[in-house]
Amino acid sequence: MEIAIIAHDGKKAEMVSFLMAHLDILKNKNIELVSTGTTGTHVEKAGLTTTRFNSGPIGGDAEIAARVVQGITKMVFFFRDPLGKHPHEPDVAMLMRLCDVHNVPLATNPASAELLIRSI
Ligand code: PGA
Repeated sequence: MEIAIIAHDGKKAEMVSFLMAHLDILKNKNIELVSTGTTGTHVEKAGLTTTRFNSGPIGGDAEIAARVVQGITKMVFFFRDPLGKHPHEPDVAMLMRLCDVHNVPLATNPASAELLIRSI
């Protein structure tokens, strides 16, 4: 099962902590992580494996959105920073919209992601 992980800069540490706290599920349930570029680098430094796409601002969110449309990515954890401004806001909105279009579970904060990952 492919899960996409994306975190804005102010949320990358929370993403790493979240994943580390759920290593058992990630390993046992045969989950493949894909990520935007910088998020993936952080996650790899923590010892996890992920397929990294471009960084969000240069199209990584769009690449993940395409996988949602194609039915490849089955769940999205997107820890957004609601207090920051992001040049790629249109891509962020597109990704969230396409998750809704294709009924793909999307968690935008750790509390929601916790509920989703426990459901796997
Ligand atoms: P990043 O992109 O992981 O390359 O920082 C995330 C984003 O801002 O969408």
